[in-house]
Amino acid sequence: MAATVIDGKAFAAKVREQVAEHVKRLKDDHNITPGLAVVLVGEDPASEVYVRSKGKMTVEVGMKSVEHKLAADTSEAELLALIDQLNNDPEIHGILVQLPLPDHLDEDLVINSLDPAKDVDGFHISNVGLLGTGQKSMVPCTPLGCLMMLRDHHGSISGMNAVVVGRSNIVGKPMAQLLLGDSCTVTIAHSRTKDLPEVVRGADIVVAAVGRPEMVQGDWIKPGATVIDVGINRIERDGKKKLVGDADYESCAEVAGAITPVPGGVGPMTIACLLANTLTACCRANGLDEPE
Ligand code: NDP
Repeated sequence: MAATVIDGKAFAAKVREQVAEHVKRLKDDHNITPGLAVVLVGEDPASEVYVRSKGKMTVEVGMKSVEHKLAADTSEAELLALIDQLNNDPEIHGILVQLPLPDHLDEDLVINSLDPAKDVDGFHISNVGLLGTGQKSMVPCTPLGCLMMLRDHHGSISGMNAVVVGRSNIVGKPMAQLLLGDSCTVTIAHSRTKDLPEVVRGADIVVAAVGRPEMVQGDWIKPGATVIDVGINRIERDGKKKLVGDADYESCAEVAGAITPVPGGVGPMTIACLLANTLTACCRANGLDEPE
C-alpha cells in the first residue's frame, strides 16, 4: 500500500493563518506589532532567496519585517554592533542571522551575541541548553516543524522508536532532543554509524537529515514507518534540474506508512515555525499569553 503523503505545504499554510490571526489580535487589543529582523552578510544566491521569501511571508502574516544586507567584507565588530542595536530595539522581537556567514566571521561568537529571547532560530547556546534540559526555550525551526507534523499525523509519538540520521547542531541534535521530549526512544545516526540500513530498519520514525540526495532507501524502512525527509538537494537528472530529499521518495513511499515529500514537506514548515517563534518571542517580551 502506498504511504500517506504528509502535506507540509498545506499544514504550513494553516500554521501561518493561525499566526496571522494572533498577530491581528495583538494589534487590535494591545497595539503591538511583532517585528522580525533578518541579517544577511554577503551575496550567497541561495541565502538571498531564503531571505526574500522569509521577508515576504513575515509581511503576509502582518508582522514588521526588517532586512539588513551587509557587504561580504563586513567586519565582526560592525556585525556585532548591528546585533547590539537590534537586541536593544523594542520593535524587534526576533533576530535571524542567515547562515552560513563568510569565513572571516566567527559564527558561534555572532550567534551567541544575540539576545537569547530574540534568537528565533534557537541556535544561541542558552537556548540549546534550555532545550536539552526540557525548559522553555526558542526551538530551532526545522526540527520544530518536523515535530509538529509528527504530532499532527500520529497524535502521540510516545514510546515510538525514532532514528535521526544526521547529528548537526541545526537539525539532527535538536530533532533528537525534541523527540526525546515527546518520549520517543531515540537513536542518532551519522557518518560513522555501523550498518546504517539495519539501524534505520528498527525505526517507527525516521528523520533523514544527511545532505545526501536520496540516500535512505526503501528497503531500509520498516513497513508502516513514518519518514520525515529534511533534505533539500538540487540535482540534475535527464538534463533537468530537480529538488530531491535525503530519502529516495519512490522506494520509501512503497514501504512507509507516511512520508513527507520534497518539495512541499519540511521546507514550508521551517518558515512557518520561524513566524510562530517570532510571535512567541513577542508575546513573551510583552508578558502576554503565548500561542499554543
Ligand atoms: P550537515 O551537513 O550539517 O550534517 C549532515 C549530517 O549527516 C552529519 O551529522 C553527517 O555525519 C551525516 N552524514 C553525512 N553523510 C552520511 C552518511 N553517508 N551516512 C550517515 N550519516 C551521514 O547538514 P544539515 O544538518 O545542515 O542539513 C541536513 C539536510 O537538511 C541537508 O540536505 C540540508 O539541505 C537540509 N536542510 C533543510 C532545511 C529545511 O528547511 N527543510 C533546513 C536545514 C537543512 P557526521 O557528523 O559524522 O559528519
